[in-house]
Amino acid sequence: MAAPLHILMNPRDNVAIVANDGGLPAGTVFADGLRLVDKVPQGHKVALVDLPKGTAVLRYNVPIGYALKDIPAGSWVHERLLEMPAARGLEGLPIATVKPGPMEPLEGYTFEGFRNADGSVGTRNILAITTTVQCVAGVVDFAVKRIKAELLPKFPNVDDVVGLEHTYGCGVAIDAPDAIIPIRTLRNISLNPNFGGEVMVVSLGCEKLQPERLMPPGTIQIVDERSVADVGQSADAPLDVVCLQAENHVGFMSMIESIMQTAVLHLEKLNARQRETVPASELVVGVQCGGSDAFSGVTANPAVGFATDLLVRAGASVMFSETTEVRDGIDQLTSRASTPEVAAAMIREMAWYDAYLQKGMVDRSANTTPGNKKGGLSNIVEKAMGSIVKSGSAPISGVLSPGEKLKQKGLIYAATPASDFICGTLQLAAGMNLHVFTTGRGTPYGLAEVPVIKVATRTDLARRWHDLMDINAGRIADGDASIADVGWELFNFMLDVASGRKKTWAEQWKLHNALVLFNPAPVT
Ligand code: CA
Repeated sequence: MAAPLHILMNPRDNVAIVANDGGLPAGTVFADGLRLVDKVPQGHKVALVDLPKGTAVLRYNVPIGYALKDIPAGSWVHERLLEMPAARGLEGLPIATVKPGPMEPLEGYTFEGFRNADGSVGTRNILAITTTVQCVAGVVDFAVKRIKAELLPKFPNVDDVVGLEHTYGCGVAIDAPDAIIPIRTLRNISLNPNFGGEVMVVSLGCEKLQPERLMPPGTIQIVDERSVADVGQSADAPLDVVCLQAENHVGFMSMIESIMQTAVLHLEKLNARQRETVPASELVVGVQCGGSDAFSGVTANPAVGFATDLLVRAGASVMFSETTEVRDGIDQLTSRASTPEVAAAMIREMAWYDAYLQKGMVDRSANTTPGNKKGGLSNIVEKAMGSIVKSGSAPISGVLSPGEKLKQKGLIYAATPASDFICGTLQLAAGMNLHVFTTGRGTPYGLAEVPVIKVATRTDLARRWHDLMDINAGRIADGDASIADVGWELFNFMLDVASGRKKTWAEQWKLHNALVLFNPAPVT
């Protein structure tokens, strides 16, 4: 049996979390002499000193709550003993006050990627079939199965075929101001670097989201080899649309034939793509967490934060997201903004989200799940402090609204809901070519569009889910590895996965969650 161990995040904290598998019984005495009054489950908090009623309970040196009654030293500090603090207002925040010294550039790291005409780089070579409306989903599914079985074997350089299906497109208030979010999300996902600019659309015909509205002229820029040879310029590509209601379609099979014939044209072009050596700066990494526990902010998220700093130093783009999970740390974020404009954009996104939640008569505290609480996270404040750590220590150099496409390098706050699938969908739209996902409770999450690297917060999870978790950050809590060790391991694994030299477990098993568009606009 391992020695009883608790983990302190900041010297000023008055609670620590129990690290041992299975938790610790009442009466356990730690090396520092602290004696447990209660049985404390793994990942849950223990009072290090007597906490009289009303005391601020500090973790990460932040008040995560106020004691609702006297809590003696050695007690289990669970959510029922804490009153949650109110959210920090959005006025009078520290703006761009943190001026970290210049980060030493990290040079010489490369991966093997697919360079696209627009300059972006793919980590996989996938034919994506864009859909304008849910009505066509069944037909596209049918066609994708046949393309995989009958066509894909003839194009060995193409990794996969995926239908970009969703529940949007009709039966929605498409002219509502917020409808731009799902529309631009779908548009920008179609342009994800992993799809090589080979856009094809399947449309029903009568839907509100017409193909020209989804992909207006000029959206798709494909370099035509001949025109480059002649004048060195790129040209707008025509939009390839298969419309199911078109009169030339007589019978279901004729629709399937049309989709397959169009697919062949794009598969031929994709098959000609070759991986080439590109600098690590071409990575566009989206980080997020899901199924979090109290170890998320101790092991996996700090290791991801370390890797985030490495990526920023290498000149890459890293997006962190999940608005409700950073809202309580807004002052940390605005102070880390590289300019007042970036801080203002962050405040704008938070205010928009506060108002969005308010319309539904809730606030950011609606975020936490029963599993989070079972894993030791008392409330959203504690969860947020552990979540923000994924962003590392670099200055925040840009902000994206939901569904927008990323156009810059460095550390970016991409505003998204925390919902795993919606966040992943929006990061795909931003141009993510690699996804890093941390989990403590465990989730088999995966996407068909990009590789998803999953990082376990605890060794127990990594052991039980040995063929689902790619990296075990639990070794940090076990004392077997440092945050830097796991951060470097993750960074090197990212380069291997991006190069196609290694596959993630989610890729291995083809675990593909559905795309979920964020639609704050009304449905009719
Ligand atoms: Ca999430």
